[in-house]
Amino acid sequence: MKNSRSVAAVIKINKTYADDIDKRIRELKKCVKECRKSEDFLAMGAAHCLLAQAYSEVEDLHNVLINSIKAITLLKDSNEHELLAESYFALGHAYTYQGNYQTALVCDERAYGIVKRHRIKGPTRIMALNNLSVSYHVMEEPKKSIRYLNECIDLLKKEDGENYTDLLMYTINLAGCHKDLGEFDRAEEIFDSVSGQLQNVTFTPLVCDYYLRRAIVSYLKKDNKAGNGYIDSAFKIFPENLFPMPLYDDLCEVARFITGAKDRKRSERIYGIMTVYAENNPGTLEQIFANSMIANYYKDFGEYELATEYFSKCEELNKRQINEIKEAQMKLQNTIRNTETEIRRLNRKMRASEELASVEPLTGLMNRSALLRVSLEFIESAARRRQKVGAIFIDIDCFKECNDTYGHARGDEIIKEVALACRKQETKDVRFARYGGDEFFGITRGLTDDELCDIARRICRNIRNAGIPNEKNPNGGILTLSVGIVNVAITDKTDTILEIANYADKAVYHAKNAGRNAIYELLHGENGKNDGEAQYIKIEF
Ligand code: GH3
Ligand code: MG
Repeated sequence: MKNSRSVAAVIKINKTYADDIDKRIRELKKCVKECRKSEDFLAMGAAHCLLAQAYSEVEDLHNVLINSIKAITLLKDSNEHELLAESYFALGHAYTYQGNYQTALVCDERAYGIVKRHRIKGPTRIMALNNLSVSYHVMEEPKKSIRYLNECIDLLKKEDGENYTDLLMYTINLAGCHKDLGEFDRAEEIFDSVSGQLQNVTFTPLVCDYYLRRAIVSYLKKDNKAGNGYIDSAFKIFPENLFPMPLYDDLCEVARFITGAKDRKRSERIYGIMTVYAENNPGTLEQIFANSMIANYYKDFGEYELATEYFSKCEELNKRQINEIKEAQMKLQNTIRNTETEIRRLNRKMRASEELASVEPLTGLMNRSALLRVSLEFIESAARRRQKVGAIFIDIDCFKECNDTYGHARGDEIIKEVALACRKQETKDVRFARYGGDEFFGITRGLTDDELCDIARRICRNIRNAGIPNEKNPNGGILTLSVGIVNVAITDKTDTILEIANYADKAVYHAKNAGRNAIYELLHGENGKNDGEAQYIKIEF
């Protein structure tokens, strides 16, 4: 996928500071500021997306939310599909952290939809599949989770067969899903399929996780001996200070089994690890949970004094946690409110700059590219509602002479006056563009033939009544117009905008040949050109 030049520049800055997160955030923020000034909304979207990713690394939830939502707003109608998908990844992660799994799943589905629609390959696709499977796992839909994980694993093997760490991670998750479905033998088969690669994985917590999960499956199969064997393998390499989240959940599950089996030696070892974890992660829910498990453990073994000590620790931590959550919620609500305001402002600005890009500067009417956009929109909606789309083609008569007689500046004034006459007829269903030098093009939808004729009449009368001098014009020495109109019923077969414009152009040509200062309608459809030669009728005004 090719990025625009300014977007590529932002991505390059991000890469330059890949290893220095503070500097990266500072530089990306600078990019945002600069892009805002230059109204380069795409590059600004890219910078917000990369900022969201950076804040995700440092688990700054608020900033992940703000930046990913802004990135999505700015990138959603662009061709930066990969960045848009990545913005949804970041937003999904933020919602997951927040415990809002349903919304996280929506984000992950959006991201995957984008990846699929635009056939994005490589790490972005792998990430999309993995995120989706994790979300489905959390939502307790293991079958869907398995489907996406299998796809993810196949793709990883095909694209990066040597990436043993990721492969192990996805495989552990896959086995976990089968375990959730009660398919223990299948889970073991999957574990076996990667056991030969464990020595290639240097990330110890993941290897520990492998053993813990195998142990859980063994315990569930009531094979305590095998389970204990896996636990002991995990203990041998246990990194006491390092606890990524999934590992912690598995640790709790294992703790329940071995305490239930009154296995005092292993219980003490595991709670020792959990205590270290709790102390290293103050203020987390895991800290409370660890303490409560330890308290229950002492209670079960009749050591009530120690149990009470741990229970009261929990209580105190709980209180503190509740206050913190309340504060965080308030802060989050503020953040969301501010972000919404900012997004509304950005949307307004984007619309304004789009409008600016679609305006023809002399007349303030649409330019040709905007005309094309509006025409396509009109044709699409008219086709849905079985309405007609009309065209009004206007060409000033003898305008060259007008320029020659009164000068170019006066010519410009006259173009503006004709444009104003057109503008007065504009509604949401009638739009005018400056088409070329002295040519104007109106597009209409849902108008009857009479209503369309009336618009052309009013413009011609308006100009005639203004009595703008054009002494070389044989039609009374004042400015006149030649106008061609056509109103086309949109069916499946018809009609590209170019065809419709072509009909109107023919009608103008007819008006010019018939002596100018006239409106001609080309009859289209049943009574018109389909029965042979095109038919024109003169519209008096
Ligand atoms: P006809 O009745 O056949 O249309 O004759 P005409 O003189 O209008 O012929 P034509 O449409 O070919 O000429 C258009 C002229 O409009 C030629 C060009 O010099 C002039 N023109 C085009 N753009 C501008 C503009 O922005 N300002 C001014 N003042 N003149 C322009
Ligand atoms: Mg002309």
